Amino acid sequence: MNYICVTCGTQFAESAAPPAACPLCTDERQYLPPGGQRWTTLEQLRAEHRNAFQRLEPNLLGLGTVPQFAIGQRALLIQTPAGNYLWDCLSLVDEATVDLLNGLGGLRAIAISHPHFYSSMVAWSHAFGRIPVYLHAADRGNIQRPDPVLHFWDGPTHALAPGLTLVHCGGHFAGSTALHWAAGAEGRGALLSGDTITVVPDRRYVSFMRSYPNLIPLDAGTVERVVAAVAPYPFDRIYGGWWDRVLDGGAQAAVQASAARYVAALRHPPRD
Ligand SMILES: [Zn+2]
Ligand SMILES: [Zn+2]
Repeated sequence: MNYICVTCGTQFAESAAPPAACPLCTDERQYLPPGGQRWTTLEQLRAEHRNAFQRLEPNLLGLGTVPQFAIGQRALLIQTPAGNYLWDCLSLVDEATVDLLNGLGGLRAIAISHPHFYSSMVAWSHAFGRIPVYLHAADRGNIQRPDPVLHFWDGPTHALAPGLTLVHCGGHFAGSTALHWAAGAEGRGALLSGDTITVVPDRRYVSFMRSYPNLIPLDAGTVERVVAAVAPYPFDRIYGGWWDRVLDGGAQAAVQASAARYVAALRHPPRD
């Protein structure tokens, strides 16, 4: 059985009994609910949940599981002349999802921002003919289900396809990545950021954290490095990791202003 952690949605390597613990949830960036560790399986998820789809703009489809599961991960399907690519991933993959995506031309590859979206990435890859899954090598230690489909890239950027560039940012995780989509936002460029750069609820700003649920901030130098990593890429819109976290326009300036606000708050002399 490939057990899935109910709290974070990560699928584990095959085992007869549930794993002793989920290293992602016992990490200081995550948490376990008051009831403690619980496990499920893909079979059980398929019985109780389904995937919902929303067209976010031309050639961009959002996918999420309903009722919500784990941390409410939302994946993005980007359609390009070179084929379809899945950014981030979900715990649930079922026949309806496979049929619908194959009807849109199938999937060429999967790329993931960081370990909180690794979810059932190996099952997804296998469901689409063992397509490659691109992960940043700095987060290699967080793999719970090793498989030959996982491809680790290193260095500052990786060209996924023409007009799709993986940009290593770090911060939240050592390997935290954003995906630059040159044709996004009607050709003005879009950044698919997961929570490497997270769109905050007022949707005019973003933020940067080591842990979002546990409110552990990053230091100023790290925030500045995250922003510097994406600065060379033109983008007007940011799609964060969740349905309602979209910064619709003026995103490049919003990232600069948000980083300046964050760093100023850290460096402000204490009040007495
Ligand atoms: Zn977990
Ligand atoms: Zn995260």
